[in-house]
This record gives sequence, structure tokens and C-alpha cells, in this order.
Amino acid sequence: MNNLTRRDFLNGVALTVGGALLSPREALGLDDTAGVAIPYPPALTGLRGSHVGSFEVAHALRDGTFWARAGPAADTGERYDLVVVGAGISGLAAAWYFRKAAGSSARILVLDNHDDFGGHARRNEFRVGGRTLIGYGGTFAIDSPAPYSAVASALLTELGVDVSRWDRMFERGLYAGLGMDAAVFFDRETFGADRLLRAPGATDPWTSFLAQAPLSEAARRDILRLVGESTDYLPGLDDGAKKAHLARMSYADFLVKGAGCHPDVLPFFQARPHSLYGLGIDAVSALDAWGLGLPGFAGMKLAPTAGPGMGLDARPGPRSPFLHFPDGNATLARLLVGRLIPRAVPARTVDELVPGRVDYARLDEPGPARLRLGSTVVRARPAGDAADVEVSYVRGRRLERVRARSCVLACWNAVIPYICPELPEAQRGALAYAIKVPIVYTNVALRSWISFRALRVSRAHCPGSFFSTVDLDLPVRVGSYRPARRPEEPMVVHMMRTPCRPGLPGREQHRAGQRELFTTTFDTFERNVRDQLARMLSAGGFDPTRDIVAITVNRWPHGYAYQYNSLWDPFWIDGGPLPCVQARKPFGRIAIANADAAAYAYTDAAIDQAHRAVGELLRAPGGS
Ligand SMILES: Cc1cc2nc3c(=O)[nH]c(=O)nc-3n(C[C@H](O)[C@H](O)[C@H](O)COP(=O)(O)OP(=O)(O)OC[C@H]3O[C@@H](n4cnc5c(N)ncnc54)[C@H](O)[C@@H]3O)c2cc1C
Repeated sequence: MNNLTRRDFLNGVALTVGGALLSPREALGLDDTAGVAIPYPPALTGLRGSHVGSFEVAHALRDGTFWARAGPAADTGERYDLVVVGAGISGLAAAWYFRKAAGSSARILVLDNHDDFGGHARRNEFRVGGRTLIGYGGTFAIDSPAPYSAVASALLTELGVDVSRWDRMFERGLYAGLGMDAAVFFDRETFGADRLLRAPGATDPWTSFLAQAPLSEAARRDILRLVGESTDYLPGLDDGAKKAHLARMSYADFLVKGAGCHPDVLPFFQARPHSLYGLGIDAVSALDAWGLGLPGFAGMKLAPTAGPGMGLDARPGPRSPFLHFPDGNATLARLLVGRLIPRAVPARTVDELVPGRVDYARLDEPGPARLRLGSTVVRARPAGDAADVEVSYVRGRRLERVRARSCVLACWNAVIPYICPELPEAQRGALAYAIKVPIVYTNVALRSWISFRALRVSRAHCPGSFFSTVDLDLPVRVGSYRPARRPEEPMVVHMMRTPCRPGLPGREQHRAGQRELFTTTFDTFERNVRDQLARMLSAGGFDPTRDIVAITVNRWPHGYAYQYNSLWDPFWIDGGPLPCVQARKPFGRIAIANADAAAYAYTDAAIDQAHRAVGELLRAPGGS
């Protein structure tokens, strides 16, 4: 029985219970296995994710400066049955569904603005000490708050992904067997002292944890009361009324105004929802906090059923199966590319694929399906009496155009009004509502993890630090890929940051975080990696100069799909049309996919929306 979820990994520790040291060739990710040095995107280090070169054209389009400087688009002469904009899971799945319906000779072009495919499902690789280490630069796992739909499950099966193998892949007891477990790092800027403490759990009770924590007397007292108490803070209300009440107040307000805690408790809990919501407890409802297992609700005897306006991540009920590959769901993206463009992906099975390489040079070779990277789409418009779609994109410095019978926009909702300005105004407004959640997944390749072992820590929640989580890689075995079992071996450490601005409304926090990410340099990320790890681990012998081999910062200013929130989205709690439903309406022979189309930041949503979008095209006049 699998009892792990992404929520467990990402929701901090369970409180209730660049590249300078690599050779230049490695640092540039140059692949010379074939004797010719070409960039191999997964091995590029430094600032990745939305890397330099991937967003400038789209931003010029947004700012209204693009067309004034663009010359006429050069017709490549290419004609396709389908052009897909966006090579994330949704775009790749759309290409796959279309090909299944139209046949293996269907001509399909997938375009993406990045130099790698997969969208947020991004793979990172490092070479350290003669070994390849694989990390996830985005999408962590097959894991969704609700069971996968029949459509999404069937796709996994078709790709040869057997979710039941997780228990055989995961070396569950590895860190515990070395006496390692979760910790909390208190930083001196927020808490007055740097202190790494084992998180409270079965062996480390709350009393001894709090006795050592750099918290005020009032904060200690109130946290102890919260985790141990049985007070009903809303006596006299029935279950529904309690939930309706909790849905309308932030968890921060609940703690101070509802549970009577001293405000000193807030910094301790502030970052707990960061990794699922990209927001702190000021902007997440008390009801969602209950759903995430945060303390204070034990005495309220809430029935384990969803309340009004509950966040999708926090809803109680059955979840999808869980499966984490070393590169996260980049394995799914690679499997899809392998089905569409077999010449570029020699591996046929998951076991061959995970340790193997994709031949990027072959993705855009002539063939029924092609994948063109580094290509930002600036226009998709009906052409030829609306029987066709003309798609223009910038590749390098060149504006090119192709024609297709149909088009799926599997890119981000917020981009679509600029690509299709003739969409009805209400639809453009609904598309623009989806402000994506900024988030940074940083992978740090270490020479060894001896210091973690010495301090008996395998992961840490850092409520006040630049990075709010620090996790040793999950030990997973796939094919010939083996996790590091001995602390003397190299290891990938995963560090997450969500740049939110407490106090602002949710979507404003996301906008501010996006701006921050676009102006934060790699040097700043690197300095914070070194500083934070040194302060956490120096007592265990950690030396950043000796131990850090390479850093890959996966910067996602446009990260998670925006999910509705009862504190900020009245229609979500009071009822009313959802913007995502209005936003995803097809337009002539153009259909709209992407997880944004479901306002649901999970892989299954990306798949389901691809299936729907292709279905719309196939049912449209002339679409069979
Ligand atoms: C850091 C992170 C971690 C996550 N972890 C999980 C997880 O553990 N489990 C889970 O189920 N989900 C997770 N998610 C969510 C999941 O990744 C997404 O729901 C899913 O992968 C989205 O796929 P997509 O194809 O809809 O969008 P994307 O992956 O965003 O792909 C869309 C692509 O379109 C491209 N594009 C945009 N505009 C243009 C343009 N004008 N021209 C060309 N291309 C364009 C984008 O650059 C992008 O590559 C995570 C997301 C993030 C950001």
C-alpha cells in the first residue's frame, strides 16, 4: 500500500507527526558521445527552467513592441494536419491523441519556446565523479489530489508506465536506516538564531523540539497547545457552517483571531503551504490548512468531506496513485516524444529510457511528427477561408510561418490573447485570469552527503529562509539507474523557493513573484544556496567550496496553473462561472489545451485537457 504523496514531500516536514567546478564541457552540457559537440539541454547548469532566450519574444509581444520591429514572416512551405503550440505534457499528449485518431502518417508539428521539451516536466542531469545524477527540474511525480481519469490512466498504460511498481523502485528505508529524518531550520534573520532541529515526530516529541527552538515563550506555549489540544473554536456551528466560516478566513487569521495564538507563532507556520500553493498562510484559507493537516482543528471534529471553496490540493478523499521517476514526469514527456518521434528516442521501455538519452538533433528531422524547439509562437489565425490555421513563430531571429488544418494551443492561457487577438473580449479576459504561480526548483549536485548523515537529516523545512525546503533526492531505482546509498557518494539536493509577497492578494503575490524571478540573477541564487546550506550543515562538516559541484536553478516564473482560492475568488466559493471554462472555448479550427484550461496544476489535468481539445477538433466541421 503506497502511503506517500507529493503533499507529504512538498508540504514541508510532517509537523503533525554555477557549475564552476565542472569541466567547461560538462558545465555547458556538451554531448560529444557522437564525436560532435552539441548542447544536451538536460545537462545544462546555471539558470534553467524559463531560461534566457525563451521568453523575450513573448514579452515583446505582451508589451506591444514585437510587431513594430518584425518583418514579414517567411513561409517555410510546410503544411501540417496539426500544429501544437507548447511541448509540455499537454501539447505532447494532444499530438499523441491526434495521431491515434488520424493515423501514424498524420503530419504534426509541435513548437515550443524552450530549448528542451516537457514544459514544466523538465529533466536535469549532472556528471559527478564519473556518475550521472538525474534530478527533476519541475513536475515531481505522478500524484494528483483526485484519482486519474480513465483517459489519463489509459495514457500511462499505453506509455508502459506501471504505477504499481513504485514500491519496488523506492528504497523507502534508506535514510531512516541511517538514522536520518526530517528537520526544521530556523534562520537568524527571522528567528534570531540559526538552528537546525530534528522535526517533532515519534522519537522527537514536541516538548523537546520547542524547548530548543528559537521562539518566544508565547509562541512555544501556543504551538504546544495547538498540536495537543481539543478546543472547538467554532462551537455551536454544524459541520457545514464551520467549513464555510473557515473557508473565508486565512489560516494566519484563524491562528491569531480564532485560536487566540500570539502572533509570534505565525513565522513558524508561514511557509507551510508554499510548495503546493506558492503562498503562505496569510493567503491560504483555514479550511485548506485543515485539509493539509496543519494543526488547530482537532477539537472541531470536522467531517472528512470537502467544504465550500476548498483548494483542490487540500480536498479530502482518494488520490491518484503515486510514482516518482528520478527526473519526475519528464519521463512521461520523453515517453510521449518516443512514441511520436521514435528516431529521436531509441529507448522503448521505462527502464531503458530513464538512464538513456534523447537525440535532440533528430527531433525536427523530416518525418510525420516533428518537434521544433526554440520557437516562440506569436500568431495563430484562421487562414484560407478559415479552413486552415496559419501559425507564425520566431526561431532564432527569424519569423517563420507554417499552415495546418488544425491547431492546439497547449501553451499558457495568459499568452493566448496575444497570439489570437481576434478572440472575443470576454474570452481574452478569462484567459488572462490565469496568473501562473512562480516557483523555483534548484538542484545542487554535491560530492557527498556526509554532513546530512552526521546531522541525521534527510530533508528540512526552512520557514524563514530563501529556500523553504531542502531535500536529499528520493532514492529511486529504475533500470540501470541506482540511487546513492552511501553518504560518501555524490547526491542531488533539491531546494525550493516560492517568491511570494505576504500581505498582498493571492494573484498580486504571484505577479510580484514573477517580476522578482525575472530579475534575480544566477549569482544571487548561487550565493543563497551556498549560504543556506553552510548555515544549516556546517556543524556536520559541510563546506560549500568543497562539497558543491554544480547548481541548476529551474526558474519557473510561470509555474503552477492558477487554482482558485476561496479567499480571493468569489465565484469559487459562492458559485458562478469559472474563468477556465470560458477561456478554453475552441475558436474555428483552434482548440485550447494545457493544465490552465482546467485551473488545476497537475499532470492529469494537462492530459485530460489535451484529450478534450483534440476531441473538439475532430468533431468540428471538416475535422474527422
Ligand atoms: C515546479 C513544478 C512542479 C510540479 N509538480 C507536479 C507534480 O509533482 N505532479 C503533477 O501532477 N503536477 C505537477 N506540476 C504541474 C504540472 O507540471 C503541470 O500541470 C503540467 O506539466 C502542465 O503541462 P502543460 O503542458 O499543461 O503546461 P506546461 O508544462 O507549462 O507546457 C506548456 C509549454 O508551452 C510553452 N509555451 C508557452 N507559450 C508559448 C509560445 N508562445 N510559443 C511556444 N511555446 C509556448 C511553455 O513554455 C511550455 O513549455 C508541477 C508544476 C511545476 C511548475
